[in-house]
Amino acid sequence: MAEESIQYFKGVGPAIAKQLSTIGIKTITDLLDYLPRTHNDYSQITPISHISPGVVTLKAQFKQVKGRYVRRGMHITEAVASDATGSVRIIWFNQPYRAGSIKTNEDYYITGKLELKRQRFAIANPTVELTSDIPVHTARIIPIYKESKGITSQLLRKLMIQAVDSTDQLPEVLPTWLIKNYKLLNYGESVRELHFPSSAEKLKLAKRTFALTEVFELMLASQLNKQLIASEIAPAISFNEGLAQSFISVLPFKLTDAQRKAVWQILTDMQKTTPMNRLLEGDVGSGKTVVAAMAAVMTMQAGYQVALLAPTELLARQHADTITELLKPLGLDTGVSLLIGSHKKQQKNEAHEQLQKGTIKFIIGTHALLQEKIKLKNLGLLIVDEQHRFGVDQRKELLKQNSKMAHVLSMTATPIPRSLALTLYGELDISLLDEMPAGRKPIKTKIISPNSRESMDMHIKEESNKNHQIYIVCPIITEGLVNTVNAEEMYKQLVSKFKNLSVGLLHGKLKSVEKSYIMEKFVAGKLNILVATTVIEVGVNVPNATIMIIEGADRFGLAQMHQLRGRVGRSTDQGYCYIVPSDSKAPSQRLRALTQSTNGFELAELDLEIRGPGAIYGSLQHGILDLRFAQLSDHKLIIDSRRAVIEFINRKEKLSSYPVLMRRVRMAQAVVTLN
Ligand code: ADP
Ligand code: MG
Repeated sequence: MAEESIQYFKGVGPAIAKQLSTIGIKTITDLLDYLPRTHNDYSQITPISHISPGVVTLKAQFKQVKGRYVRRGMHITEAVASDATGSVRIIWFNQPYRAGSIKTNEDYYITGKLELKRQRFAIANPTVELTSDIPVHTARIIPIYKESKGITSQLLRKLMIQAVDSTDQLPEVLPTWLIKNYKLLNYGESVRELHFPSSAEKLKLAKRTFALTEVFELMLASQLNKQLIASEIAPAISFNEGLAQSFISVLPFKLTDAQRKAVWQILTDMQKTTPMNRLLEGDVGSGKTVVAAMAAVMTMQAGYQVALLAPTELLARQHADTITELLKPLGLDTGVSLLIGSHKKQQKNEAHEQLQKGTIKFIIGTHALLQEKIKLKNLGLLIVDEQHRFGVDQRKELLKQNSKMAHVLSMTATPIPRSLALTLYGELDISLLDEMPAGRKPIKTKIISPNSRESMDMHIKEESNKNHQIYIVCPIITEGLVNTVNAEEMYKQLVSKFKNLSVGLLHGKLKSVEKSYIMEKFVAGKLNILVATTVIEVGVNVPNATIMIIEGADRFGLAQMHQLRGRVGRSTDQGYCYIVPSDSKAPSQRLRALTQSTNGFELAELDLEIRGPGAIYGSLQHGILDLRFAQLSDHKLIIDSRRAVIEFINRKEKLSSYPVLMRRVRMAQAVVTLN
């Protein structure tokens, strides 16, 4: 029944059916799944003697309904609505059919806004429904839907009122005991109450049911993943204190306390025979690489191989360079190798062979590592930089080649709000670098109106005179978007503006060799200015760069701009960030926020507030994280969901007894797994 097509619904002709299908609605189930974005409460019926300006709902009869043209193209229908307590004027503009369709001497629900019209109070363009029909648009809490071409909220309500008859046939999602113990509604009821709430309390309960279900699914998924991982055997990587000491003693800097703590947590995990599954989370520049290198050193020393996955070739190369440098003093650098897509066939074949033999001890690469289906002799540790950029299935193949499962360390600079992180990963598996290396000066951030570039240009000259370097990031490569600076044009302008500076252009359309050629020139200090697109967003490390200019800033997300800004201020030199909006309008709250905070977590929370969870979790590219109801700041919700998950597991419940839940939890498992 619920899978039935909606084209036989009252009010659905072929044209509307087609429109509906463009927004994904074909069956009754699809329709019911199209949830309202909000509700209007018209349930309060006011006697006419008590109404005051604003939206009101009456129960009244119409008298003296008259329509006329006041001038060409302007028709008004006037009427008087009366109940036992009084009367009020009603006006409809340009709805000439009203006079013919309104019945006098019948009770109507009337919802509309009472306001002053031509010096008299009247309700203009109200929605009316006979009280003898089931009210759909008036006299109740009504749902408001996202509208699209040809699909109004009004139409959706007419269809939805027919569809909610099928809600009791919807399969249950949660176990009965859970619904009862946590005072939730059953699934069908919560769908019905969400569309057409019978009361404000029921609506709240429906929302709570959805919210708890969302968090429960995610938490259950992460618990089940944990169980799966716990059932695997990993190589125990013993802690070699002498090695740790010498690694630290040759570093050109002192580890921060946060780095020490993270290292300790990681090495503790890796000593166990259950696979580590840890997230190393730290703002840009917090020094994640050296922490990962320490874990790698221990692994290699114990006789196992290490693999590092980077999201771009640029970063893979950079990681390879950094890690080679870090390992050189220990004499471990000879086993480090790079494998990326742009390598020649022969080079790849050699790498494959050496990986299988075990002469390569530390392989660094991009997706190519996964796609090439490399065989490793004995992988002990997989490090994944910016883990959300990789698919999970391929990673599994890499991890499970031998009888033992490798440990996994995922690194991310994407600040995940703590509540979400706990939901997904659990407290014990997150290491947080919440402290910046000493001596870093907060980056000075300024918004520059497009009309006042001179001061910025002056500063470019000054910094290049000090041999410092400059990044300029544009939202697009080539012309095409109105009002948006493109990288090619910017490059041309700069070349002619700064005759004695060398300028480079870097973007995603260049060949991989060209990209690395330009990048290497910039790293070597042979370019003063690098004009780029967001290819440089993640992880690029050129400590000598001191200015980051973000052009067309309104086109970027807050987190993304924070990442970009993190490319400067990576040494003891003062870093500067200039934000250039596309026009000279007052800068948005988002842009201003950047000038006020340099803390990625703070900005993430703010982004969450301004753009809502969808936009934030959307950046993790996982639909399942697009929570529609759960507010992760809701403590009780998080606690209840966690208790429910524990109870589910303690009761030895089988997922297979709950097919709908199983489907969704399996999906979530695939997403939240780090392995
Ligand atoms: P991210 O966390 O963004 O990946 P990196 O690992 O690239 O940061 O480190 C950023 C820079 O900080 C590098 O140049 C690195 O050598 C340096 N660095 C890391 N840890 C420290 C520290 N404890 N003290 C000083 N500099 C450090
Ligand atoms: Mg990094």
